[in-house]
Amino acid sequence: MSRVYNFSAGPSVLPESVLQKAAAEMSDYRGTGQSVMEMSHRSKAYKPIVENTEALLRELMGVPDNYKVLFLQGGASLQFAMVPLNLRKKGRAAYVDTGVWASKAEKEAKKWLETVTVASSKAEGYSEIPEVREITGDYDYVHITLNNTIMGTKWPYLPETGEIPLVADISSCVLSEPLDVSKFGILYAGAQKNLGPAGVTLVIIRDDLITDSPVEGTPSMLRYSIHAENGSMYNTPPCYSIYMVGLVLEWMKETGGLAEITRRNQEKAALLYGYLDASDCYRATAKKGSRSLMNVPFLTKETDPEKADALNKKFVAEAAEAGLVNLAGHRLVGGMRASIYNAMPLSGVQALIAFMDRFAAANLH
Ligand SMILES: *Cc1c(COP(=O)(O)O)cnc(C)c1O
Repeated sequence: MSRVYNFSAGPSVLPESVLQKAAAEMSDYRGTGQSVMEMSHRSKAYKPIVENTEALLRELMGVPDNYKVLFLQGGASLQFAMVPLNLRKKGRAAYVDTGVWASKAEKEAKKWLETVTVASSKAEGYSEIPEVREITGDYDYVHITLNNTIMGTKWPYLPETGEIPLVADISSCVLSEPLDVSKFGILYAGAQKNLGPAGVTLVIIRDDLITDSPVEGTPSMLRYSIHAENGSMYNTPPCYSIYMVGLVLEWMKETGGLAEITRRNQEKAALLYGYLDASDCYRATAKKGSRSLMNVPFLTKETDPEKADALNKKFVAEAAEAGLVNLAGHRLVGGMRASIYNAMPLSGVQALIAFMDRFAAANLH
């Protein structure tokens, strides 16, 4: 069996050792004679799995004691609704528009409260994070998308919001580098970018924000209070996905924890951006100072749109033949995008650059 280098934005690459461990434990989990998929979520065998996953997450992320860690379903997309449904008080929230996911979050919130777009980088094609160092006003919360998976940008600073809870979508940058959890009211992430397989959504919420939903008719499943009271077991949780997240977190810890993961991520990103910036044939689309560590969109320097489009398709197809898969840019932006999440080894980035050199020599001079 040979593995490819998978640059998918999500679901995305998992550490090979994690897949092997899951395979070895697939039909008989540690002498129980059952797969984790077959266990009751309230069984003696399963309890340590979810407890261990939460403990590792708290340790690696440095989650303070006054925050709950919840394992929910519905993806990051359901959090676009749960945040306004649970935090609405005055009925107004601030959103920063940094791209597709950020504007989707705001659009969904509009169903339950008034939103104010306090800053946007739309006019810049979302190629940078706008300057909004301070956000004040009569807001129930401020929402940001910390890493913009599609445009390949990342907040280089956190806006100061005083007493207003800061809520962040960290789907594509969770545990990619240190983050001061205490600066946030709520953090949320779909697992399938950097934590494990799809199916589980991580929510980290400060205790004082867990109150009864103020919106009449809010379903039980959409209330943080219900999930928190029941330790994420109000109903059947995504047991197997939680187990897989636990294995990924164990791998992170064995690798040297967040410090070593951060060092590797910085090394990979520096190599790829360095190559792009020095290239006569390619260019990165995100502006310096706002660049993502995880998602790197890039284009060729071909200026004729039709020729550029044909070159992009050729690049993606030939890269796939060379074992470098899922390099097509998002359908909304085109070009190419290399997602280099935690589980992408340095050798994958090196192989990509070697391919880019070969492709340039054959097609771009
Ligand atoms: C992928 C992604 C989402 C959507 O996640 P789902 O789990 O599919 O709902 C939302 N926000 C960001 C930043 C993402 O990268």
